[in-house]
Amino acid sequence: MEPRLGNPQNTIRIIKKHNFVFQKKFGQNFLIDTRVLDKIIAAADIQKKDMVLEIGPGIGTMTQYLAEAAGHVVAVEIDAGLIPILKETLQDYDNITLLHNDILKVDIAGLARQYNQGNPIKVVANLPYYITTPIIMGLFEKDIPIENITVMVQKEVADRMRTGPGSKDYGALSLAVQYYASPYLVANVPPNCFLPRPKVGSAVIRLTRYACPPVQVKDPALMFRLIRASFSQRRKTLLNGLSHSSELPFSKEQITAAIAALGMAPAVRGETLTLEQFAHLSDLLSDQKGNLPC
Ligand code: SAM
Repeated sequence: MEPRLGNPQNTIRIIKKHNFVFQKKFGQNFLIDTRVLDKIIAAADIQKKDMVLEIGPGIGTMTQYLAEAAGHVVAVEIDAGLIPILKETLQDYDNITLLHNDILKVDIAGLARQYNQGNPIKVVANLPYYITTPIIMGLFEKDIPIENITVMVQKEVADRMRTGPGSKDYGALSLAVQYYASPYLVANVPPNCFLPRPKVGSAVIRLTRYACPPVQVKDPALMFRLIRASFSQRRKTLLNGLSHSSELPFSKEQITAAIAALGMAPAVRGETLTLEQFAHLSDLLSDQKGNLPC
């Protein structure tokens, strides 16, 4: 039986054995703290019936924990240099499928069909920080059956995902995450829990996907265009942000009327609006789309 990873000695031993060189461009900071690993597994609430997708298994540390808790684990790793290491560290497990690929190019809904009869999967990862947002948004926006996502992210990103209006961290990511899921902070994780140590603090966050979004909106794509335009230049008023956006077809008069119908002052800033208010604004404007000149 291969030794269980998760402590610094075993991690260093396997890295040295394979002459592995860390690739900064892939955001490689491997977990070396068993307490953090236990917390992640417990927070993800993994059962023997579950299929888990792990993004970026590294040398397989968390993959071992996941394989012991789950029914099946699909682990997707981009770095070819890690594949022979993973084949060694995971050789004692018969419920792991290892894929050498870029997660942004993988058909994850197809994996859920292939390995979980299309039922909702759980996603667990110590994410590569350079692509946190595209990974999370891809998981939500593509039609992927997901129960929950439990991920290590930069602490600042975890703050942005959880916060509401009035905070400097509030923005398009907060609104997108909160439209699709309920966020819960599992733990803050200091740099010394990783090898090599990242320059930033980290946090584990669990996003439990809603069966139905907490707000009803006629055209979610339009609401997200409004949200992006509102936050693209934070110092602008909502009116200026929306009327100067090339993504939106509305006249200044239409936007002024919609803001007034919301009961808000003309100089209101986008960062003060709640998700409900963005949904309402979106419905007011989508009613006007038919009146627009071609
Ligand atoms: N899970 C391991 C752990 O906790 O020790 C490693 C986590 S490390 C922060 C991020 C991992 O994601 C690395 O193994 C890296 O090579 C991998 N990775 C980076 N970009 C990726 C991508 N686009 N697709 C799949 N894996 C990726």
